[in-house]
Amino acid sequence: MWTCDPALTSNIVNSYHATGPIFMQALATFFAAQCSIAGDHLWPEDAIEEVVKDPYYDFIVVGAGSAGAVVANRLSEVSKWKVLLVEAGGNPTLNTEIPQVFFNTFGSDADWAYTNVPQPNACRGYKSNSCTWPRDSTATSPDMQFHHVVFPPNVHLLLDMFEKHGLKENIVQQFRELNKDNIIILIAATLLKPKSKGKIILKSKNPFEYPLIYANYFDDPEDMKTLLRGITQYVFKLAATDSFKASGLQLDWLKLEACEKYNTESNEFLDCYSREMTISLYHPTSTVKMGPDSDSSAVVNSELKVRKVQKLRVIDASIMPDVLRGNTNAPTIMIGEKGADLIKEFWLKHTEL
Ligand SMILES: Cc1cc2nc3c(=O)[nH]c(=O)nc-3n(C[C@H](O)[C@H](O)[C@H](O)COP(=O)(O)OP(=O)(O)OC[C@H]3O[C@@H](n4cnc5c(N)ncnc54)[C@H](O)[C@@H]3O)c2cc1C
Repeated sequence: MWTCDPALTSNIVNSYHATGPIFMQALATFFAAQCSIAGDHLWPEDAIEEVVKDPYYDFIVVGAGSAGAVVANRLSEVSKWKVLLVEAGGNPTLNTEIPQVFFNTFGSDADWAYTNVPQPNACRGYKSNSCTWPRDSTATSPDMQFHHVVFPPNVHLLLDMFEKHGLKENIVQQFRELNKDNIIILIAATLLKPKSKGKIILKSKNPFEYPLIYANYFDDPEDMKTLLRGITQYVFKLAATDSFKASGLQLDWLKLEACEKYNTESNEFLDCYSREMTISLYHPTSTVKMGPDSDSSAVVNSELKVRKVQKLRVIDASIMPDVLRGNTNAPTIMIGEKGADLIKEFWLKHTEL
């Protein structure tokens, strides 16, 4: 990465000599900070040649995500096993290393940039009428969660979350104008246990062609009811509190043509708004369902072995029979741990490996 070449960075810093020592020092500090968290110099050389020279492994783990990284780590604890972990893409970048700017990865080389197939009753505020899919109980537990995203004034100059999601230009523009001199607190009401189920199907036999992702948002009417209940019980009550008002905040809504005819406190308005401004929490699961032999829709069994295929397991979020609840990262790490234990238990007893 050019900014991390020491000769080049000093050349750049020196070229700002006329601006004075404080600015030069600040610039040098920024470069140093950037070079210590991102850049090809921090990562090992690509190992393809080495792998091709000796392509025999006891285990090949595909994908170093939440589960894959755990599986590879645990398997490599057995010193006699040779483990290959394969990951797509290049080295981490600034955008993947700084949690707060992860929206900048959307649509970049670090993102598979999937979108769902447009549906008439959701994601209507987006240019392509489809939502962005970047790339991943008990009866009394909550069925909703509220995200509060704080945008200081003019934050869109640095990071335009709305644009990155592909929202229509007039919506992006409204957000920019509101944000020009104002702090915005965006409240995202999130269904943790949606009843609607989507599906993914292959578009063709070409593995490089993106699959068709049918999100089927709001297919089950219960989901909209839960969402409206959450908004009315939380957002409206929050906006009515003395402390909310005393801090100079006010509840505002983006002006959406489709919803203009409704009173902003009505269910019709909230229904319409949700269908325009639909957004995913990026926690889809369950495309490679685990289940008993009697379940014809199950792809893997309880040992996570793919049915009718020898020596192949799927160990990741896809095996959850159903979305357990939003926030799938920790359960997926647990699946990685359990999967690694299953592999160890089986293969440490078998010598034919
Ligand atoms: C933007 C975003 C924010 C999220 N925030 C949260 C959160 O705050 N809390 C939470 O609980 N969950 C969060 N999640 C969900 C959580 O990250 C996922 O549920 C979890 O990472 C799934 O783990 P996984 O191992 O199944 O898949 P992943 O972690 O997605 O791992 C799959 C890996 O396989 C790699 N891969 C894919 N194809 C290939 C290939 N052909 N060859 C080699 N490698 C390949 C991918 O690059 C990836 O590294 C978020 C997800 C996203 C996308």
